[in-house]
Amino acid sequence: MLSTRIARLRHRCACSYATVATRPALSGLNTVARSKAEQISRDWNGTSATGENTKNFIGGEFMESSATKYIDVVDPSTQTLLTRVPETTSAEFEQAVDAASQAFKTWSKTTVLTRQRVIFELQRLIRENSDALAASIVLEQGKTLPDAHGDILRGLQVVEHAASAPSLLFGEKIEVSRDMDTEVRKVPLGVTASIAPFNFPAMIPLWSIPMATVTGNTLILKPSERDPGAAMIIAELCQRAGLPPGVINVVHGTIPTVNSICDHPAIRAISFVGGDRAGKHIYNRGTQNGKRVQSNMGAKNHAVIMPDANKNLALNSIVGAAFGAAGQRCMAISVVILIGTAQAWLPDLITLAQNLKVSGGFEKGADLGPVISPAAKERILSLIASAEQEGGKLHLDGRNITVPGYEHGNFVGPTVIEADPSMRCYKEEIFGPALVVLRAETLDDAIDIINANRYGNGTAIFTQSGATARKFETNVEVGQIGINIPIPVPLPMFSWSGNKASALGDLGFYGKSAIEFYTMKKTTTSLWKAEDALASKASVNMPTHH
Ligand code: NAD
Repeated sequence: MLSTRIARLRHRCACSYATVATRPALSGLNTVARSKAEQISRDWNGTSATGENTKNFIGGEFMESSATKYIDVVDPSTQTLLTRVPETTSAEFEQAVDAASQAFKTWSKTTVLTRQRVIFELQRLIRENSDALAASIVLEQGKTLPDAHGDILRGLQVVEHAASAPSLLFGEKIEVSRDMDTEVRKVPLGVTASIAPFNFPAMIPLWSIPMATVTGNTLILKPSERDPGAAMIIAELCQRAGLPPGVINVVHGTIPTVNSICDHPAIRAISFVGGDRAGKHIYNRGTQNGKRVQSNMGAKNHAVIMPDANKNLALNSIVGAAFGAAGQRCMAISVVILIGTAQAWLPDLITLAQNLKVSGGFEKGADLGPVISPAAKERILSLIASAEQEGGKLHLDGRNITVPGYEHGNFVGPTVIEADPSMRCYKEEIFGPALVVLRAETLDDAIDIINANRYGNGTAIFTQSGATARKFETNVEVGQIGINIPIPVPLPMFSWSGNKASALGDLGFYGKSAIEFYTMKKTTTSLWKAEDALASKASVNMPTHH
């Protein structure tokens, strides 16, 4: 029954260039969502939430694409058509790269203080327009309204960090010989590109936009084709903040546009965030073409609960981190390892998960919304089913959830699966509200399990013992570690540090790494002889550096 309904919805919503608007525009939305959708369409130039086309943003203009292929963006809680995203044509893509190349000639020569002032203004405008951004995120991505504000805030923090560019861009200088100085400067690369996933429609574009531009580069952004609205609003805010035409450009689409980014000789660096398949492809193709590439990919993040943990803190933290955003965060806790007597806490963990409210993102008190698409839901359901088939135990089964008022939504309720590391549900990233529970007797066993996993994005331990935490932190081979903190994403003065199969490329996002990523070094050695200040005589000898 359920699978028939999903198949029907899937057929209606498949993104593959088919319009799903079988009902009149917005008739699927309730009053609150509809008024937000209408307001977005009225107020913003690049996007629509009432079924019109999303535009390209090229050389400072929001331009209707002449694409022949469009991708439908639908509200995942109702399947209502919100906007149609073009597969940007190759001529338009070329135009965007040209605009970025032209803009680089002048933008790269502006002073860092000029660029900093634009960033200050962007920060103010994002704050001022966060309600519009959040509404767009809820409509297109499906997360809850407070969580959408969190999505924006975490991006805004990168904007705020970028405002410290004058000190971040400090170079180095030393007198290497008498009157001779060597100076290292960090100079911009040129045209850069950013390819974003669906799960953080504001935060991830904001990982790149401020850092790329404040360092003097120009940028081509390709947002996710599933929820490009927030990126379009941000593009308009960049324009209002004073970023000159061509400094940021937005193009759209799927694999053809991504491949154009990987291949275009004028593009010097690519930032990618998304799944493993695309991430490896973009890293390989981009680096083979001589580009600098940073690629953040999938994850399987384990939380360990020790028997001495603060039980309330541990269970609430893990339930929030596993099911918030319907589990569609790359730092979501997707595995919990219960150690020794902490295994007795499993029933309480299940109760907390069961009590979460699943609903449309604008509904008051909603804890989690739908997953992004019927296809994503089907994948999640099949991984849950595989756990059953492989001998796992479903302690809480969210597969058959119905959400009043949102009968067509892609909802999956919180699901708790007891499994072992040989099962598919453990080995594969589920990216949905399904938490895998493992049992272990000792901390060493837990560390062995985590280190055997191919991913290395994040992990957490809950304990009251500093010694236990220290041992965990020292021995676990994961890039981002939380001690009594479930989602240890570093603030942007640090850098993203996921490792192993979760990342390719040596330079992480934001922080000092981003400055390295977006700049190259220029070393100048100069001689200004003191005596030349008065009179000079030519030297014909090679410099000997004495
Ligand atoms: P995705 O890989 O499907 O899409 C990401 C981007 O790549 C999109 O812009 C898409 O158009 C493009 N793309 C998709 N398939 C492609 C292909 N075969 N070739 C070229 N380009 C392609 O990812 P998603 O579903 O949007 O996002 C979810 C994934 O992102 C999860 O795996 C999640 O863990 C990961 N993610 C990672 C981080 C991190 O920092 N490690 C952060 C957020 C999300």
